[in-house]
Amino acid sequence: MNPRERFLHALLGEPKDHTPATCVTQVGIVEVMDAIDAKWPETHFDSKKMAALGASLWNIAKIEVVRVPFDLTVMADALGAKVDPGKVNVQPMVKGHPFTSADQMKIPDDFLKRGRIPVVLEAVKILKEKYGSTLPVLAGFEAPFTLAGHLVGTETLLKWAIKSRDQVKEITKKTTEAAIMYAEALLKAGADVLSPCEPTASTNLISPKDFRELVKPYLTDLAKSIDGYFILHICGDATLIVKDMAETGMQGLSIEDKVDIRSAKQMAAGKSRICGNISTANTLIWGTPEQVKEEAKKALDAGVDLLCPACGLAPITPLKNVKAIVTAVNEYYGLPG
Ligand SMILES: [Zn+2]
Repeated sequence: MNPRERFLHALLGEPKDHTPATCVTQVGIVEVMDAIDAKWPETHFDSKKMAALGASLWNIAKIEVVRVPFDLTVMADALGAKVDPGKVNVQPMVKGHPFTSADQMKIPDDFLKRGRIPVVLEAVKILKEKYGSTLPVLAGFEAPFTLAGHLVGTETLLKWAIKSRDQVKEITKKTTEAAIMYAEALLKAGADVLSPCEPTASTNLISPKDFRELVKPYLTDLAKSIDGYFILHICGDATLIVKDMAETGMQGLSIEDKVDIRSAKQMAAGKSRICGNISTANTLIWGTPEQVKEEAKKALDAGVDLLCPACGLAPITPLKNVKAIVTAVNEYYGLPG
């Protein structure tokens, strides 16, 4: 099997030769940016550099994926949010919100031509042409509830979730429409798998009941509207919502290290496959390669379907720790390293 076949089989629960060592979240790390001259922030605005960095963990570490972009502000920016481009080791962040009420939000006619959307679409095209026959091409973006927070302010959105739930539903319905348009364009450009990230829907910020009422219906709409594969990432301890995440119809769920793989697999059984969950906040940044391998093998023992970092890689993650994920798989299955 080549890495693309292995990844897609693993994602769909079909027979595979072994569990892939991959990454379904942000892949850019500073050590590699320096080595290939594709540094943040300029790489966020340059499709060639974006594609090069998106393929870098495959080229340098044999992590089985090519993936762009490296932040969660592309749609917000195209819809009028103020975005700080960040630094070499800091992701772009939303700094100003264009709307104060849900009815102000409109999707511009030229939405897909605005901001950095054309840069990402071009980077996906480059990756598909160069790597698409042997590697899975992934494209990430901010999922509807998180995007709604970017447009009105996350604090405002969470206040509305208490006092003004119709506003949450109205704006999230619109951000879902925007996400569907963008997702279709990403697939057309050559993405194999879409990875919507929904950090604002973490159980640290909203209750499981709110997840079911204010987030899940829109993720379900997104998955149903698009003829493509999805991996949904939600940060933090998603244990109480894994079953709901699986019911959205998304083929893969990317979970963090606070979630137990075995119970996640049970809750998602027959619906979604589990991607995870080597700690990005602890082991991958601060641990040794031996500790990364140990945690990776625990996830493999637990039956993880795609072995991945728990969340987006922190830019300061050492390359040797990323390489240890691949070594862990090679050692676990007795493959030639
Ligand atoms: Zn996360």
